[in-house]
Amino acid sequence: MKNKLKTIAVLTSGGDSPGMNAAIRAVVRNAAYNNLDCFGIYRGYQGLIENDFEKLGPRSVRNIINRGGTFLKSARSKDFRTKEGRQMAFDNLKARNIDALVVIGGDGSFTGADIFSQEFDIPVIGIPGTIDNDINGTDYTLGYDTALNTVVDAIDKIRDTASSHDRLFLVEVMGRDAGDIALNSGIGAGAEEILIPEEDLGIDRLLDSLHKSRKSGKTSSIVVVAEGDQIGKNITKLASDIEKDLPEYEIKVTVLGHIQRGGSPSCYDRVLASRLGVGAVDALLEGESNIMVGIQNKKIVYVPFETAINIKKTLDFDLMRVADIVST
Ligand code: ATP
Repeated sequence: MKNKLKTIAVLTSGGDSPGMNAAIRAVVRNAAYNNLDCFGIYRGYQGLIENDFEKLGPRSVRNIINRGGTFLKSARSKDFRTKEGRQMAFDNLKARNIDALVVIGGDGSFTGADIFSQEFDIPVIGIPGTIDNDINGTDYTLGYDTALNTVVDAIDKIRDTASSHDRLFLVEVMGRDAGDIALNSGIGAGAEEILIPEEDLGIDRLLDSLHKSRKSGKTSSIVVVAEGDQIGKNITKLASDIEKDLPEYEIKVTVLGHIQRGGSPSCYDRVLASRLGVGAVDALLEGESNIMVGIQNKKIVYVPFETAINIKKTLDFDLMRVADIVST
């Protein structure tokens, strides 16, 4: 493969995350470093089908390492789920003599990449880009660290008003079915309670804990609620259930929403993106295919798409214990 590889392409797919631009930059520059031509594909798989390509060189990716989002834009493509759509995508790659593809996205994007690669026998490498940190086989995904810092910053501000008014704030954070953002931001921002999908402790335990906090002298509280948590899924109902049981608190709900996905990437995410982007091109040059480039114990690793997609990532439950202890 090393001799055969001449031209590659890169795209971003699924939800955007901070660090995607930095990863594109690293892919483009490592391609140039190895004398490969590189195309950027706009709007993910949809742009691949609709022939939305642009040749990129080292200077095309200047001044983007610090920018959130993705300059190649991202999309969710229904057409790529069909055989006809993927055939058009492949034909567009072949028309430009593109030998391999780098896909920056989440598990859905990797599922599409895996199918595409096997169907047309074309090497595809994935880079995990999602703020949720929910992809198995990598300790961190692109954008997670930035999102955590955004959430902690927001909760710090909310705490100012919570403590000035004796309020209890329920703060909903992203993460889909994963509690990484909630758990880590909850510890980092000193939340009294953290509700995560991986551990359904029920409303009674939450109420009991809030009563205890009140008795211990706390006059305001922050509860971080992961969007996928069982009792937190309906956060307005949760607020009214708590209000009935703890009428002494004024309950406020804040849904942080998409501010968590935006913003300039943290230094950690920029370095991670640079390593993963360089790693993806290295992997192609080594003849790899159908793998995600991830990071484990600070080392770049190659993880088969199957492992990344089909195995659920486990949460570090010791962090729950730490959260319990430090919130007493
Ligand atoms: P996020 O974590 O932000 O949701 P994601 O990569 O998981 O990112 P998805 O919308 O699940 O986002 O997937 C992105 C795209 O990947 C889809 O719009 C679709 O084009 C493609 N894709 C997902 N699953 C498949 C599949 N089974 N077959 C073909 N393509 C797929």
